[in-house]
Amino acid sequence: NTFADIDLGELLNQNIRRCKYVKPTPVQRHAIPIALGGRDLMACAQTGSGKTAAFCFPIISGIMREQYVQRPRVARTVYPLALILSPTRELSGQIHEEAKKFSYQTGVKVVVAYGGASINQQLRELERGVDILVATPGRLVDLLERARVSLQMIRYLALDEADRMLDMGFEPQIRKIVEQMDMPKRGVRQTMLFSATFPREIQRLASDFLSNYIFLAV
Ligand code: AMP
Repeated sequence: NTFADIDLGELLNQNIRRCKYVKPTPVQRHAIPIALGGRDLMACAQTGSGKTAAFCFPIISGIMREQYVQRPRVARTVYPLALILSPTRELSGQIHEEAKKFSYQTGVKVVVAYGGASINQQLRELERGVDILVATPGRLVDLLERARVSLQMIRYLALDEADRMLDMGFEPQIRKIVEQMDMPKRGVRQTMLFSATFPREIQRLASDFLSNYIFLAV
């Protein structure tokens, strides 16, 4: 019933203590072990439930093992290993801040890219290297069209507040983004979808993007 009971590794546990998290929240207690076990996950989670850590911890833990994998060298294109999609600039900023704290001293690099802000500064950040990219769908499509980001190496995908992203009309962008990940081979990617509500459209996204997933309602 503590984070130490979950196999996240000493470095991540230190960072969790630094954040003053003592006890996992219900969504964390259930989602983290499922994700660490490699399963896809669709989880019901409201704002304030601790969902950010629920998807960040397994991603960071996985990336700590995989960040040294060989990535293609193509001028000006970066190859993140994990992608966290969220509906708004504010939420992406918050996830970025939290993910940076969680990955302190792990060597895992987190970069954020959202619309309504200078793309040039975001491009400069990306050029310094990126393992985990936090992005809003519109800005990411822009980066993909400029060939500045490739999703070919993505191992982990988290869709946060998926219902809100659909309400905001991002479904075409999300589909375009995920299609680019499916190109090399299916099955290497682990996908986590978080949503407060589960209308038919969300269920359709889940059946299109997740494989053999666990549905978690806490
Ligand atoms: P979230 O639902 O991810 O937006 O998190 C809501 C707030 O709860 C954030 O300020 C987190 O830093 C905080 N939080 C998340 N998990 C825990 C935890 N296990 N213990 C204490 N605070 C937490």
